[in-house]
Amino acid sequence: MFPVLHWWMSLRLSCAAEVILLTNRIIHLMNRTHLARTALLLSACALGLVSCETPPAGPTSTSRGLNEYGNRPGPRGFKTVIVDAGHGGKDSGASSRRAGLTEKNLTLDMAKRLRSELSGFRVVMTRDSDKFVDLDDRVKLANRYPDAVLISLHFNHSSSRFAGPETYWWRVDSYTLAKRVQSQLSATAHQHNSRGLVRRRLRLTRNPMIPCILVECGYISHAREGKAISNSSYRSQMARAIARAIRDQSAYGDGNLGPLPPFIKAPPSRHGDARGG
Ligand SMILES: [Zn+2]
Repeated sequence: MFPVLHWWMSLRLSCAAEVILLTNRIIHLMNRTHLARTALLLSACALGLVSCETPPAGPTSTSRGLNEYGNRPGPRGFKTVIVDAGHGGKDSGASSRRAGLTEKNLTLDMAKRLRSELSGFRVVMTRDSDKFVDLDDRVKLANRYPDAVLISLHFNHSSSRFAGPETYWWRVDSYTLAKRVQSQLSATAHQHNSRGLVRRRLRLTRNPMIPCILVECGYISHAREGKAISNSSYRSQMARAIARAIRDQSAYGDGNLGPLPPFIKAPPSRHGDARGG
């Protein structure tokens, strides 16, 4: 900014000669130090040569307590849970021929099991049949419930030998909910995964204006875990584990789950940003 202003001010000598000459002399004397740049900027502002804009404000909460970046404590006392069965219709998600499992069927099954474990809460399903729902439409639905939390359910697949549940989060207000869910799932899961809690910007972890997490309930590609997932009583155990975490979050809020992470200012996630995004 400095060289441009210097050149530009020289051209304006005729209209504000004395002030500019003085400013230029001060600047040369100060040998372009930080102080000089500040003085130049202030002088330029006084002359109306540049606009002294206030830096963009940080995220602010709306009157309903919503926050674009989720930079607020985690929720407490909420009574509505949006249960999102991942994929559906033409979008089958992952599949394991060996175990005979298809993700879109498993997520719907898990969503229904979770719904039945959440007595006392109002449960809103993003789909309750085998139909395709666009991710952005799921976000729009979530935003109609400003006092809710959203749990998106998925199952993982990998060509490597990965196993264990993973919980994805992005917003600060979603962190302890994710932590509670991952902790409950790890205690219940057939397999364990040390990188189970992952901060990742996805459409359903970044874009809703409410606390939102994406739960990968396990790897259907893993021989033993896939076999466990194919068992309905195992899926019920996982649903109960997620429900326990939701109840704890509603009862205790962030509780004593450690300092909250810093918020990250990032644009909404769009198609193709990341896996599952
Ligand atoms: Zn999925």
